[in-house]
Amino acid sequence: MRAIRIHETGGPEKLRLEDVPLPEPGPGEVRLRVEAAGLNYVDVYHRSGLYPRSRPFTPGLEAAGVITAAGTGAGDFRVGERVATARASGAYADETLAPVAELVRVPDGVATETAAALLLQGLTAHALACDVFPLKAGEVALVHAAAGGVGLLLTQIAKKRGARVIGCVSTDAKAALARETGADHAIVTARETFAESARRLTDGRGVDVVYDSVGKDTFEASLNSLRPRGMMVSYGNASGPVPAFSPLLLTQKGSLFFTRPSFGHYVATPGELRERSGELFRWVAQGALKVRVGEKFPLAAAAEAHRAIESRKTTGKVLLVP
Ligand code: NDP
Repeated sequence: MRAIRIHETGGPEKLRLEDVPLPEPGPGEVRLRVEAAGLNYVDVYHRSGLYPRSRPFTPGLEAAGVITAAGTGAGDFRVGERVATARASGAYADETLAPVAELVRVPDGVATETAAALLLQGLTAHALACDVFPLKAGEVALVHAAAGGVGLLLTQIAKKRGARVIGCVSTDAKAALARETGADHAIVTARETFAESARRLTDGRGVDVVYDSVGKDTFEASLNSLRPRGMMVSYGNASGPVPAFSPLLLTQKGSLFFTRPSFGHYVATPGELRERSGELFRWVAQGALKVRVGEKFPLAAAAEAHRAIESRKTTGKVLLVP
């Protein structure tokens, strides 16, 4: 079968299409034929080496498709079933393995591609809005990269919970998309200082929570956007990791709270996976949560897909279709 392999870390050119043997599922695993693999920013961190992995490896955590083989102890998962996972062992491939504990069935009424586009970013957005900082009606959330994969889903879930959403984006086209998706305001960071705009939009008070996926470039201004005792949720590093800082900074900015969550700690058990994904799939089937696939690339064009997401050209989800 075909798979993208990374032998050394670096730029997108390190993503190489190769022929590899079909993997055999071990105990508690299944193999699935990948109908769509989700591209996530974490794949960029794995490729660049920001998050180290042993090499060579096939990147990609997110896949949806059909089970083609089941190992011993695969429980009631059967060959032929439509499933999705956010913990595949190399989704950029024709087929991949996944542990059954990390598998969800794709319900009727949800397309396989939609499941690949939803699962990892949806679980992240769900955890952020419902648990990391459980938004309440009337609270104000600042969402960075609001037209991105996580951003569009987070905006919709925050609105469902009755919050007011201020989205930050880099272009007018992304601002229009963020507003169409439910953001109450969209700040175009190319021409507005977002901390000032956030204060203006909250009558000087500051927002209750910032969901910051950009990292290094936005860290300090995100703190400046918060109300006293507000919550800074730093959950990504699209511009580079946040540098070390003194806890006193949080005092100076208004006794702020700071957390750096990973979705894995909020989807830590099969029960938690079932509950969160069940709610996400239900919303999608009801038309109450829109999943936007911004772009699709063939497997062989994985490098092009990485270049697109890193150059901030993409909106919503990017898929690789083997
Ligand atoms: P996105 O679709 O959001 O793409 C990244 C976006 O970040 C860009 O479109 C861009 O939006 C913005 N951005 C700002 N500065 C930069 C920069 N210097 N380089 C590139 N992009 C930049 O990706 P995802 O939805 O896949 O991921 C969003 C973030 O969420 C990532 O940081 C990722 O690591 C994080 N994440 C964290 C998880 C966790 O468990 N903690 C799980 C899943 C995702 P704009 O042009 O509008 O500024």
